[in-house]
Amino acid sequence: MALVVLAGAHERLRETVLDARFNLVKRAPSGTIAMVEIDPRSIAAIGRWPWPRSLHAELVGKLAELGVTDIAFDVDFSARSVDAEDQRFSDALKGAGGSVILPIFRQVASDAGGARQGYVNRPLAMFEADAWLGMVNVAPDRDGVARDFSFGAMIDGQFIPSIASLLAGLHQPSTPEFRIDFGIDGRGVRGVPYIDILRGNGDLGAVLRGKKVIVAGTAAELGDRFVIPGGQIIPGALLQVLAAESMLQGRTLRTTTLALSSALLFGPLLTAFVLRRRRTRHRILAVISAAIATEAGAVAIQFVYPIAIDTSLLHVAAVAYALIALVEEVDLRGLLRLAAEKRFNNVAMSLSDGLVCVDREGRISMSNAAASRIFGLDAAQMRNLQFARLLAVDAAGPDASAPPTTNGQVREETGKRANGEFFPLECSWSVWETPSGRQYGVVLRDISERRRQQERIRYLAETDPVSDLPNGNSLITALSDALRRDEPQRLMLASLWHFRRMRDLEGQTFADALIRAAATRLKSRIGQGLILSRSDSDEFAILLPASQVDVDRLAASLIETFRNEPLEAEGRVVRVPIVLGHAGSEEAADPEVWLGNARFALAAAQRQEAEIAVSFAPGMRDEVEKRMALENRLRQALTAGEFELFYQPQVDLQTRSIVGAEALIRWHHPERGYVSPGEFMPVINGSSLADGVSAWVLETAIRQAAIWQQRGTPLRVGINLSQSQFTAGTLAVDVARLLDATRLDPAWLELEVTEDIILDDISRVRAILGSLRSLGVHIAFDDFGTGYGSLTSLRDFPLDTIKVDQTFVRNLEPGSENAAIVTATIDLGKALGKSIIAEGIETEAAAALLTALGCREGQGYLFARPMPARELENAWLRWAA
Ligand code: C2E
Ligand code: MG
Ligand code: MG
Repeated sequence: MALVVLAGAHERLRETVLDARFNLVKRAPSGTIAMVEIDPRSIAAIGRWPWPRSLHAELVGKLAELGVTDIAFDVDFSARSVDAEDQRFSDALKGAGGSVILPIFRQVASDAGGARQGYVNRPLAMFEADAWLGMVNVAPDRDGVARDFSFGAMIDGQFIPSIASLLAGLHQPSTPEFRIDFGIDGRGVRGVPYIDILRGNGDLGAVLRGKKVIVAGTAAELGDRFVIPGGQIIPGALLQVLAAESMLQGRTLRTTTLALSSALLFGPLLTAFVLRRRRTRHRILAVISAAIATEAGAVAIQFVYPIAIDTSLLHVAAVAYALIALVEEVDLRGLLRLAAEKRFNNVAMSLSDGLVCVDREGRISMSNAAASRIFGLDAAQMRNLQFARLLAVDAAGPDASAPPTTNGQVREETGKRANGEFFPLECSWSVWETPSGRQYGVVLRDISERRRQQERIRYLAETDPVSDLPNGNSLITALSDALRRDEPQRLMLASLWHFRRMRDLEGQTFADALIRAAATRLKSRIGQGLILSRSDSDEFAILLPASQVDVDRLAASLIETFRNEPLEAEGRVVRVPIVLGHAGSEEAADPEVWLGNARFALAAAQRQEAEIAVSFAPGMRDEVEKRMALENRLRQALTAGEFELFYQPQVDLQTRSIVGAEALIRWHHPERGYVSPGEFMPVINGSSLADGVSAWVLETAIRQAAIWQQRGTPLRVGINLSQSQFTAGTLAVDVARLLDATRLDPAWLELEVTEDIILDDISRVRAILGSLRSLGVHIAFDDFGTGYGSLTSLRDFPLDTIKVDQTFVRNLEPGSENAAIVTATIDLGKALGKSIIAEGIETEAAAALLTALGCREGQGYLFARPMPARELENAWLRWAA
């Protein structure tokens, strides 16, 4: 309020309130004062302007005749006109006998130099003598509205009453300004056109008798108009009449002081204070009511007494109070939140995840389109639905749908669609406080697809795609689970016989089909609850509770089934025996060791080349450990140069002269002396040492052959090849390079291959042997007759020589089975154009029989044991030479 007053707005507000109040407090004019209007009709009738003063003189006469008691002119008589006219008016004034009032007023005008000067405009002295002087100045407020009026003013040291005061018959020199009571209805003031009086039109007597009149211009073109409260524009004359009426009726309004206005504030203030605990709505109502009541009181007082109580500050205060309280109530932050909510709504609606808001009773207050899509419920159906109804009843449990107390909780639930379908649902909760209690937001995501993906990934990680059985990873998990249980378990591994070879021969598709058939067979044979998995290419694992299953019987029955009932793969029916190895959980501390134990057992079974089941024994591990130690020792031996090549002479059976020598490796062990290759070659061939050792043999033997060639005692040297040389693929190149480097005639070189090597990778080996042969090198088939594929190999491979294996030769007796085999082999060789050499001739009898059968060459202890090169040179080459 202080601000309102200080800013100068108070006056404006006050006038607005008081102006408005005139509409409420209406009263009629007393009717004692009428207007004689110089209106457009009168001006038009007289036809000239300004009017000759004789007209006014005539008017004074007529009015007197009509019984008018006082005549006030609001017409300028300050300038002289035509003398005769002025005289006529002067005469009329005299005749009126002091009942005429003429105007006097202060005027401001610019002089010749442009300076503004005030001066007093008064009637000519000749008029003034016979008339009263009445002040006609009216000072509108700053807003241009005429409200206040004075009883008169001091002009040239003399108090001049206003025309209104004179008409009202008051003479109050010291009374200050008052407010005209515009509640007096100006429309009730009678006005008679000037011309009507001159012409005597109408029953003027009835209207004017005993009245006081004011003669003034009311035509708009004459100016002299004022704006009054309510925005109405009235002629100055009417304003004078209203002022006069205010005086006549005792309605010269006094406006109360600012102090009183301020005091009025006390009421609403008190009301607000008393009701401060009430609801805003009530407080506002009370304060507004107090203001209205006060205003009503003010109106009543103004109606009875000429007192205009200024209630403007009160109204401003009440409105301000109401506004502030309302703003408080509506809560600006609330409005901002509303805007934010709208934005939130937009975001929520375009979200691809479902979103619902849940109130503290668990009811859904809002949901978005995605939520409707997920649950098959439209927004209307969602509204007010219990959130728990979106979840599967069973899965939800007692508090699955209970809202969390902290933000950011993510839970996986089972959702329920409108069609009754259940689906995995992820709920991310958020919590916030609102004036109406705690609220929850739940982002809902249908994670069926994610679950499917997870399942798929898990399936891939845990399953062997070929057999659809759990894979090696799963087996390890199952094994560690089993180890945690107290109950003893047995892990049985089953392997298909010669699976790898079959795969190489028949192709991967066939092998996969075979695996599937074997898996189905195993599944149908082992009972429920036993875990079956494929842990390696041809290895199936079966986990058995040792106490419940008779392992030996199960093993026997499995072997039996596979032996007797062929498998069907790719439309073919094949009999595939199996071998088994098993190990118990009590022998292993961890899953890897356990699986390793079972594999040792399986390997032991495989080595025996029989359809058997082998139980793990700690010795198997020792064997392997020994083997590994040996491997390390052999590695050392290679770098330390502990290997030597011995040469065993091959002789012409008839002449017994040397025709060649087979290079045979020996390990000169520092303590054990010479170690035979049967003891260490399998270790070397099964390890990474194979490449190094065979390269060393090849080079050493070729160099030896080259030396003998250089010395003029050339000798055919046989070298045993190993599998790794074929796998490496550079054999032919290496041999060519060595032949080139040593200048050895390739005819002196014979490379020995065994059936193992040939069958490992048939086409590859055939190609390599072909290139070797094209170098001019001889190829010999070592240990002929011991394998299964000898005959096919003979036909399909580029071979020069057949070495008849010593098992047939050593105890060769006429008429024996061995003799039959040897005979057939020699005949076959001849038929195919191959040379024949017999190994392991220990007796003269054998040598004689072989010679008789047509075998030309031989090798054996009968002639010589393998020996160092120097020894062979001394004993054989000199002799040969
Ligand atoms: P192999 O190639 O069949 O070699 C013939 C084996 O028979 C040699 O045994 C030889 O000493 C033995 N032997 C020769 N005549 C008689 C006989 O009258 N009676 C008996 N009982 N045995 C006889 P060794 O030297 O122990 O070699 C065994 C096997 O080791 C070889 O069989 C060969 O397969 C392999 N081997 C030897 N040296 C090498 C080599 O340098 N490289 C490769 N890759 N393998 C080799
Ligand atoms: Mg050999
Ligand atoms: Mg041999």
